[in-house]
Amino acid sequence: MKVWVDPERCQGHTLCAMIAPDSFQLSDIDGSSSAISEVVPADQQDQVRDAAHSCPEQAIHITDET
Ligand code: SF4
Repeated sequence: MKVWVDPERCQGHTLCAMIAPDSFQLSDIDGSSSAISEVVPADQQDQVRDAAHSCPEQAIHITDET
């Protein structure tokens, strides 16, 4: 499973980093989110899915490829 954050959509609400703190990091400059690792470890996948569903901007994109 892979994840990426669309920088055009992300508004820096920080929800993703609260839900999945091991998977998303927030920029010190503009607060926007990015994935810490494009490939999501198995033990973080549920949290990453929750974060994607919770993102108000639909900025988090997931693919199920390994
Ligand atoms: S929840 Fe969505 S809009 Fe908010 S910081 Fe994360 S990716 Fe960006």
